[in-house]
Amino acid sequence: MKSYKLDIKKIDDGTLTDILENSNFKKFRKSQIKTWLFKKNVNSFEKMTNLSKELKRFLSKKFDINSLEIISKSKSSDGTNKYLFRLHQGNEIEGVLIPSNNRVTACVSSQAGCSLDCSFCATGKLDLKKNLDFYEIYEQIFVLNKESHKIYNKNLNNIVYMGMGEPLLNYKNVVQSIRLACCPNEGLAISPKRITISTSGISKMINKLAHENLRCNLALSLHSADDEIRSSLMKINNSNNVESLSKSLKYFYEQTKIRPTIEYILLKGVNDKISDANKLASFCKNFPTKINIIEYNKIDNGLFEKSSSSNTETFINCIKRKNIPITYRISKGKDIKAACGQLVNQGK
Ligand code: SAH
Ligand code: SF4
Repeated sequence: MKSYKLDIKKIDDGTLTDILENSNFKKFRKSQIKTWLFKKNVNSFEKMTNLSKELKRFLSKKFDINSLEIISKSKSSDGTNKYLFRLHQGNEIEGVLIPSNNRVTACVSSQAGCSLDCSFCATGKLDLKKNLDFYEIYEQIFVLNKESHKIYNKNLNNIVYMGMGEPLLNYKNVVQSIRLACCPNEGLAISPKRITISTSGISKMINKLAHENLRCNLALSLHSADDEIRSSLMKINNSNNVESLSKSLKYFYEQTKIRPTIEYILLKGVNDKISDANKLASFCKNFPTKINIIEYNKIDNGLFEKSSSSNTETFINCIKRKNIPITYRISKGKDIKAACGQLVNQGK
């Protein structure tokens, strides 16, 4: 039978306190309940051992506890682990745990699918199915942190919003998930310095993020500092062009003093010429930044090839000569389709 109970995780603090007080329960119970739901992530009211029987009964009648469910795990030969999760409404998303140099990074999804259809990305071929609720994003972090303890015996070092979807098009839930993950009382007390939002570049939302006082990092998927080339790769560039993104990143830096990262996939014959490196370098002159070159992971549409190693080296050296910090990231987890841009729920 269909349940018409409310999803307790979505009830805001004020409303939950009112509901409790209107039924003669003490308002400090709100915080106890939220701690059970998020910090301890229990899946039934029965397990909330410091609540009275009467309150547990009241809560079970009125509310459901919906949670993210792990459907399957796959392990890559390089140690990367991919998790397929089911949201309670049925959509499926993926999260990835990536170990490297004694550090563990969790990559989480913000949407099921993505509406932006960048031409190099497999997720973009899925269409947008759902904006994740804040707790569905938070619970990926929770589960991946628990798995990190189990597998590597350590806390997550980094959390990147680089899984499925465009975080800044699910802005409210993404911000709330970060606040909760960082909250020492009800969440995981993670330092925001360990969290990075990656965006395809929504200027207006970058400006808004500058005022959230979240203190997390921001990465822009630029991939070309030339409007014509960038628009051919990413339709979003038609409404958020290179100049508007440069202004937004400058503004973000001025407001937060946090240095944004520029992500750049090197695609053979598309954006890997010396002239492309020069344009990228001038883009990076407007604010302090660092560049992260990403190795292209082949997807099924066959449109692109990754740059040759000699072109990659020339490109990187050209940027280095201009004294802009630059790193090269080789993707992990390719054999289980867990690398950047490859997340499409093939585990089904
Ligand atoms: N929507 C956000 C975050 C998810 S994509 C964004 O676009 O930034 C995370 C990163 O993977 C982005 O930098 C994206 O450009 C990159 N990516 C997408 N497809 C890729 C592919 N086939 N190979 C390598 N990186 C890819
Ligand atoms: Fe969406 Fe990011 Fe993939 Fe573009 S690269 S389609 S914005 S997930």
